[in-house]
Amino acid sequence: MTGLIKHLKNTLHLFYPHHCTGCGSDLLSQQEMLCLACLGALPHTGFENIAGNATEKLFEGRVPLRAAHSQFYFAKHKLIQHLLHQLKYKGNKEIGIYLGNIMGQALLKSSRFANPDALIPLPLHADKEFKRGYNQSLLICKGMAKAMQVPVITTAVKRKRITETQTKKHRMERWQNVEDSFVLQDAPAITHKHILLVDDVVTTGATLEACSSVLLKQPGVSVSIATLAIANK
Ligand SMILES: [Zn+2]
Repeated sequence: MTGLIKHLKNTLHLFYPHHCTGCGSDLLSQQEMLCLACLGALPHTGFENIAGNATEKLFEGRVPLRAAHSQFYFAKHKLIQHLLHQLKYKGNKEIGIYLGNIMGQALLKSSRFANPDALIPLPLHADKEFKRGYNQSLLICKGMAKAMQVPVITTAVKRKRITETQTKKHRMERWQNVEDSFVLQDAPAITHKHILLVDDVVTTGATLEACSSVLLKQPGVSVSIATLAIANK
């Protein structure tokens, strides 16, 4: 950076100070989103290099995935919960791209995830996305795509509307309802591809399982899963 631009940036910083999304402390001009202390406090799982990790175990015997990963351990009242809350409920889109980029860089170094053909964000219900104004999983994908140089596909699969009776149903019926809640829209876009399906948090895995099952019906498709965080059931 030339001295002049640096000077301008520092001057701008005086007028438009930016703060750490984690703790609110002042950021230096070359820092983005998180201060070094918060960045260092993120609870990485290391799952990208661990076959049979807790996220993979969730899907065992349910859907045949190539590999599965969660970047962080979710913990209540901790930094990661605050950041995910910012992403999902406070309109902080940048934190999604930022954390997605961290995950993309980790996956890029892992032989288990380095070469997917495309990223697919888990689709939201249309009314939910309209209300929020964006799909948080797409933002995570955008950050990952920057690191991994992999295209993002948003048109392949769609989520159907929530049925009113869904909450009243028994577990088995509800599962069938989840399974039926995705529909393949653009099959040729994914045929013979290794898809990396992306979501913010995995808890029971039912929704990701349902979406993976729909993708896997297409010939030659293999699916891996990556989520920003894994929560306890
Ligand atoms: Zn901080």
